Amino acid sequence: MKEHEIHQIIPILRETIKQWPPALVDGMAQTERNPYKILLATILSLRTRDSMTARVVPKLFALADMPGEMVKHSPETIAEVIYPIGFYHNKARQIVEISQILLTEHDGQVPSDLEALLKLPGVGRKTANLVLTACFQKAAICVDIHVHRISNRWGYVQTKTPEKSEFALRDKLPLEYWLQYNALLVTFGQNLCTPISPWCSKCPLTQFCARVGVTKSR
Ligand code: SF4
Repeated sequence: MKEHEIHQIIPILRETIKQWPPALVDGMAQTERNPYKILLATILSLRTRDSMTARVVPKLFALADMPGEMVKHSPETIAEVIYPIGFYHNKARQIVEISQILLTEHDGQVPSDLEALLKLPGVGRKTANLVLTACFQKAAICVDIHVHRISNRWGYVQTKTPEKSEFALRDKLPLEYWLQYNALLVTFGQNLCTPISPWCSKCPLTQFCARVGVTKSR
């Protein structure tokens, strides 16, 4: 794709994804702006299917939905609640540690700057950027596997890792699209530009897409 074509692609994506439900965390962000809940839901969703995360998130928040309540529970108790989510033992420990740090260092609030978020256990750039955009509307680009894969398939970036894609996108994606870019591409990637065998025959972006690395499609 040519760089300026992003201005045609984004409106097409906005229309196309209306037919599908939003990805879990984006859906949460549309209905509530509780940074603590969105942070924990994002951690739970890592390496886990949205359908599984969606079942577990309400159970965790029924147990506790504020740091002061969460620290009353042991990692073992939380692990039982969030099982069978991926890496549930690690995530349970991180949830307690994060809650403790928020209480002692941030007055029980989720910080709204990247450096502070990245110091929290289990929080990488993807999670931190998602919290910044979804909760605080700060200029950031959350790059997960869908954003990385699709941006490369289009030929918009040429990168090997999501982190490198983030920095490449920060150089060329117009600022006006930063907040939305993740939500648009995640939903598009879950439903149409899928990891294996994307639905190119149904895709409204074929005229723009270089289909880099696509060897099999439907
Ligand atoms: S043409 Fe195929 S590879 Fe390109 S965006 Fe559409 S579904 Fe994805």
